[in-house]
Amino acid sequence: MPAYITEPERKIPVVAETDVLVIGGGSAGMAAAVAAARGGARAMLVERYGSLGGLASNGLIILLLTLDDGRGKQVVAGLCQEMVDRLAARNACLFPPREEWGSPDEALVEKYRRVGLVWGSGPHVVRYSVAYDPEEFKVEADRMVLDAGVDLRFHRWAVGVRKDGERITHVIFESKAGREAIACGAVVDATGDADIAVLAGEEVAAERVHPWLWFRTANVDEAPAEASGLRPGYYRTIQPGGYLHPWGAAERIEHDIDATSPDDLTYAEVECRRLVRAEVDRLRGKAPGFEQAYLSGFAATLGITESRRLVGRHVLTREEMDQPVEDVVAVTGNWTKYGALYNIPFRSLQARATTNLLTAGRCISVDHRAHHATKEIPACFATGEATGTAAALALQHGVALAALDVSSLQAKLRSAGAYLGR
Ligand SMILES: Cc1cc2nc3c(=O)[nH]c(=O)nc-3n(C[C@H](O)[C@H](O)[C@H](O)COP(=O)(O)OP(=O)(O)OC[C@H]3O[C@@H](n4cnc5c(N)ncnc54)[C@H](O)[C@@H]3O)c2cc1C
Repeated sequence: MPAYITEPERKIPVVAETDVLVIGGGSAGMAAAVAAARGGARAMLVERYGSLGGLASNGLIILLLTLDDGRGKQVVAGLCQEMVDRLAARNACLFPPREEWGSPDEALVEKYRRVGLVWGSGPHVVRYSVAYDPEEFKVEADRMVLDAGVDLRFHRWAVGVRKDGERITHVIFESKAGREAIACGAVVDATGDADIAVLAGEEVAAERVHPWLWFRTANVDEAPAEASGLRPGYYRTIQPGGYLHPWGAAERIEHDIDATSPDDLTYAEVECRRLVRAEVDRLRGKAPGFEQAYLSGFAATLGITESRRLVGRHVLTREEMDQPVEDVVAVTGNWTKYGALYNIPFRSLQARATTNLLTAGRCISVDHRAHHATKEIPACFATGEATGTAAALALQHGVALAALDVSSLQAKLRSAGAYLGR
């Protein structure tokens, strides 16, 4: 069999045109699209699946860790806080009230540990973190995006870009409708895997990881389950009798995977499901309260902590933790450390060679250790909000992203409710 075939040249219809084209509808992408639309741009959000949230809904990673600095002060606000407000209005989330943030009270810390809001090593205090319902999140995400006027397009997979010199002019998508191009002014890569950066020829850093497959059980008898020494390992959810299991394949699966390899993903999906079912059987047999429990759902997507990250105009490193940066456009705390902050510079969202490309979320330009904090959902909301706002502002002022006056971007973000420090 020949090793290659050659595709005949073909014409691709340009089906739409937009100012800011956001690809990937996870927490970062939805925030980017909402911010761009509210900034006055025509914003389009394209997602390969049929719902928003990415890992924050379909991955069952349903804990916002964290919106604070670990000392009782909120450092992620803006669109992430708006999502919390929307979920709270639906009675679909759970978090400590403001007066408890930073409290060392052991009973309170234990109360929030039981719902998955306390991680890392102690001594612990109560954090401003949020547990929520993923299905409510999906509906609120739809509403947030559509209410902002975003042109939302599901079921399209970005597979190519067309460049004119250093600019992306079109992104090419595959779907059941065939191959289609969308013309754009600026692009936000919120694919989690830096797909657009790779297609545009940008340098990326790649990691192999062990896969996770979070799952939920239902019909658990809470009193014995809570009293059991087997906790933690599973967390109460907002549904009575429902538990969240942050299950990972470390030491249980033969090898780490490249999460951009379909063969590795196939192996991990099959193997993780098999192992999770065995884990549920084990819990039913051994864990108090789980005798009548059943597996109420696997995450629809594997939990992939890392795959590819952009190597952008600046690579934020762990050594820069707690350092002020002039062009800060997002701030995040650290879910396993108290009092540790990252100021994320605009340069860490910008591609080096492609002048109208930004990244948001877990594929921004940071090193492996800074990624531990910047990949968390609140931080993804914050970098998404920064990219959408920046792209809209640059187009409005008719300047390249690299030439954008960062102080006007910071002012715009602050006026929309984002926290950027003093
Ligand atoms: C096991 C695990 C545990 C974690 N625990 C926590 C936690 O407790 N709390 C916390 O805050 N964070 C946690 N995180 C981190 C957090 O969940 C993710 O880093 C974050 O949700 C990533 O958001 P994102 O928008 O950058 O990417 P994603 O959520 O991955 O979204 C990317 C979106 O892009 C779409 N997409 C991808 N490629 C294409 C393409 N080519 N074309 C079109 N669409 C595409 C995907 O379908 C997806 O919807 C955890 C992560 C993992 C894996």
